[in-house]
Amino acid sequence: MISPDQYSTLANELLSWFATNKRALPWREDYAPYRVWVSEIMLQQTQMERGVAYFQRWMEALPDIMSVAQAHEDTLLKLWEGLGYYSRVRNLHKAAKIIVAEHGGIFPEKYSAIRALPGIGDYTAGAIASIAFNQDVICIDANVERVFSRIFDIDTPVKQKHNMEFIRKTVAAMLPSGHAREFNQALMELGALVCSKKPHCSRCPLQQHCEAYHLGIPHERPVPTPKKGIQHIDVATGFLMHKGKIYIQKRPDFGVWAGFWELPGGAVEEGEAPEQAVVREFMEETEFPVQIEDKILVVKHGYTTYRVTMHCYFLTFAQKHSAEPVLHAATTYQWVSMDELNDVTLPAGHRKLLDHLQNDMRLKPLLQNS
Ligand code: SF4
Repeated sequence: MISPDQYSTLANELLSWFATNKRALPWREDYAPYRVWVSEIMLQQTQMERGVAYFQRWMEALPDIMSVAQAHEDTLLKLWEGLGYYSRVRNLHKAAKIIVAEHGGIFPEKYSAIRALPGIGDYTAGAIASIAFNQDVICIDANVERVFSRIFDIDTPVKQKHNMEFIRKTVAAMLPSGHAREFNQALMELGALVCSKKPHCSRCPLQQHCEAYHLGIPHERPVPTPKKGIQHIDVATGFLMHKGKIYIQKRPDFGVWAGFWELPGGAVEEGEAPEQAVVREFMEETEFPVQIEDKILVVKHGYTTYRVTMHCYFLTFAQKHSAEPVLHAATTYQWVSMDELNDVTLPAGHRKLLDHLQNDMRLKPLLQNS
């Protein structure tokens, strides 16, 4: 196993590799704290290519912290739409306001002040302190965990407390003082480009130090944590059409998809058909009596710990009825045209549905006749 007196050799080899192999990413142009911060939040749970496109769009719309602090939440949600995990963008908004109110609009440099901002945990605080300010602070993401579990051949689940503690201590011992910006990025970059899930050991600068490589078992590391079962949920929803418009409502400011616009609907209960569930949900949420005109389609959508099967219908009023709902699950509502529906922020499953609907030939006559 690699010994502590070899750490500086390994760190130097890694830094040389990074100098010639790093990707040209927009936030690497100047390492401005605001840009590093947004990139770190955006790239959590997001693929790099996709993240870069969102990052550039975001920076064009909101070039500095002040513009984020002053933006309306709907603007931020729209820029974030499709990235998921929306608490991240809400925390960005809150943090920007705090930076303006408490730090004069300048991103704080002190680790404790960075860590205290909403949405910033140990990893992100370490990433910003080291990448934006080049402070000697470690940051450990899944890439670093993977690289270390292979180099040191960690043969129990890497997320176990003692393994994480070992990785933290070892990264800290290896970090060359004054070079944290490059070193931390180099480790993560190696994990992303070379020591990826399917490792490319033949072009790895750390091959000679790697225990798992010498044992011929890199693909068996890291040892995963045993998975809990994934939950499956059936939900029913629908487009209620009236006088050529579609009904949408805004979710409360708490809970899942807080503040998003949505179609009414919810979980299909035990012993219930999705057709019954959609009629019941509309009654419970809006007191609208609705009837099904047609089934549109079934959309399957995956989240971290559950999978949703969404049954969707074209709906009209079952009897002559006022267009004004009694709201039980929303803060406000509106009747919108198909074009206007493109401009509101919808949960991912509803957006998928809408994309399909644009090409559904049944929609136009139904809208005209409703
Ligand atoms: S030699 Fe292979 S397994 Fe080891 S660090 Fe390099 S890429 Fe990863």
